[in-house]
Amino acid sequence: MTPFVFPGILTRVVFGRGTLAQTGDEVARLGGKRALVLTTPPQAEDGAALADRLGDMAAGTFTEAAMHTPVEVTARAIAAFDAAGADCVVSLGGGSTIGLGKAIATRKGCDHVAIPTTYAGSEMTDILGETEGGEKTTRRDASIRPETVIYDVDLTLGLPVELSVKSALNASAHAIEALYAPDANPVTSLMSLEALRAIRDALPGLRTAPKDPEIRGQLLYGAWLCSTALGYVAMSLHHKLAHVVGGSFDMPHADTHAILLPHTAGFNAGGTDALDPVADLLGGSVGGGLWDLARDAGAPLRLADLGLTEADLDRASEIALKNKYENPRPFDREDIRGLLQAAWEGRRPA
Ligand code: NAD
Repeated sequence: MTPFVFPGILTRVVFGRGTLAQTGDEVARLGGKRALVLTTPPQAEDGAALADRLGDMAAGTFTEAAMHTPVEVTARAIAAFDAAGADCVVSLGGGSTIGLGKAIATRKGCDHVAIPTTYAGSEMTDILGETEGGEKTTRRDASIRPETVIYDVDLTLGLPVELSVKSALNASAHAIEALYAPDANPVTSLMSLEALRAIRDALPGLRTAPKDPEIRGQLLYGAWLCSTALGYVAMSLHHKLAHVVGGSFDMPHADTHAILLPHTAGFNAGGTDALDPVADLLGGSVGGGLWDLARDAGAPLRLADLGLTEADLDRASEIALKNKYENPRPFDREDIRGLLQAAWEGRRPA
């Protein structure tokens, strides 16, 4: 018997096809009367269509959401929120847009309905990363967690395949780390394994049938599970390294996660039996199995291809060792440098 705490799942979830049509009902359910709809610039049209659909319940749109939630964008969004007399936010998009929704909701104390259109997995968590003056800080707080998440498989049918693959691997990283987290519980572990099963089954067919609702449904279902698990556990080596490589070297978020995951998971598999079921799911090897899954799906495999230099690997190793956090396997500078070298070269972990 292992003692545990399970806090309960704190966010209402609506999952299906065509569920975007329920946005108004979900806003009303929270007592919202005027929702500001948030998107990135490329998804502005979708935001305008959603605002039209909401009619009188829409306070307008704000379409400047950007990667890593810059505080100056949040300040402009809050000015728009106030000027429009909004009382809640609806974020329609990937992790960047949901991040903006969280940043507004936590500052204004208002409700947030998140409608994810990628698999990145911000929507179910209480985590917010923000950038100010080029520096990214991450914090966790109950007020950051969206009240309601609407998953609409139809919104993901057009997500470009390359982005879909990287995003699904980004999601998988949450499940992997949730399995060996110091505060893992039986529910997050079950969800994580089910997520990895769903993603393993769906990813190989994506390239040939990118608009197949069954495949997309499995991926979004997996993403929900991954995001939920991440929302209740501490993060370890994988997320910390991805944070260093992404944040300090300005590398793209999903690519960084996708490339690092086989290496960090493979390394940690040597320090915990929590990943044994993942080895079973992936043909015997955690690191090798994830690498094969990524390669077969056409994911990027080499940090070198993102423009990182070998000298950057030295600096990244130094930065990664600065903060202490729990990890199932102890490591030193040599371990991290070796892991980064393998990811830089795109070598398949054993
Ligand atoms: P993103 O939100 O920046 O989206 C990438 C691009 O894809 C954007 O241009 C977006 O408009 C476009 N896009 C999104 N959905 C689309 C669709 N269905 N069809 C076509 N285009 C679409 O990228 P992301 O990978 O979803 O999110 C990354 C961000 O999320 C990072 O800032 C990361 O730190 C954050 N994140 C946070 C958490 C958390 O718990 N706080 C978890 C995961 C990710």
